[in-house]
Amino acid sequence: MPELPEVETVRRSLTDTLSGATIVAIEERFPGVLIDESEGYTLPLTIERLRRRGKYLLFDLIDVEGKALILIAHFRMTGKFYIEHHNHVQPHTHVRLKIIKDGNTFHLDYVDVRRFGRLWLYDSHDENRHKTIAGLGPEPLSEAFSEESLRFSLKRRHGSTVKATLLNQEEIAGIGNIYADEALFRAGIRPQRRSGRVTKKETAKLHLALRDVLELGIGHRGTSFRDYVDGLGRPGSFQQLLNVYGRSGEPCHVCQTPLKTIRVAGRTTRYCPRCQR
Ligand SMILES: [Zn+2]
Repeated sequence: MPELPEVETVRRSLTDTLSGATIVAIEERFPGVLIDESEGYTLPLTIERLRRRGKYLLFDLIDVEGKALILIAHFRMTGKFYIEHHNHVQPHTHVRLKIIKDGNTFHLDYVDVRRFGRLWLYDSHDENRHKTIAGLGPEPLSEAFSEESLRFSLKRRHGSTVKATLLNQEEIAGIGNIYADEALFRAGIRPQRRSGRVTKKETAKLHLALRDVLELGIGHRGTSFRDYVDGLGRPGSFQQLLNVYGRSGEPCHVCQTPLKTIRVAGRTTRYCPRCQR
């Protein structure tokens, strides 16, 4: 599932192509993937900007009469946007947006093999109309996410494992299995430790580690472990720098001890039994 760095990479990859473009037609090729919660609009819709919140990609739109709308995308497992310059339709294209930019016509296709992802359309530019987004915790790369806020989250979820707390989108937005495992490795904390047993010093390390792995992930344009590609079809390269994710049984990059695999918070979890306490 794309996490914060992957969704941010998609946003950046599509920004030049889509900012200022107009959506002149919306074709639903499979019902139920696009959920229209708006009170209506008149095409064409101008794409003002692309934003991101947690793992959600947001398109601020203005309809032809000046009404503001927002299109929200959540990719879940296998959803992706694909720019199609020809009339070809690839399999599993559920929503096709016909786009005009600088006189050129192309399509922005929402493709999703497993079809768990969704697109929502709401009135206004306020993403908090989406209930789940309204309940998201702070953006981990913003000032709202501090050592203090992380300490508070760990305290509030003291009985849960530290990994479950990191994955809880109400505590911190945008972190999934890959970046949680990588951050815990860097901070030297076992994923299955109770949140309430993380010390103040470790919290400071974890705060820094989370920011580092997310920034590195964005810098390497995401992790392409299975099939993730950005909005222009390019894979990322952060998978080459992973310390634990996907390395079950392989030697730790720091101490050479074979990495362990366990299940934490319902997810396959890897850690170094020597470096992480
Ligand atoms: Zn180690």
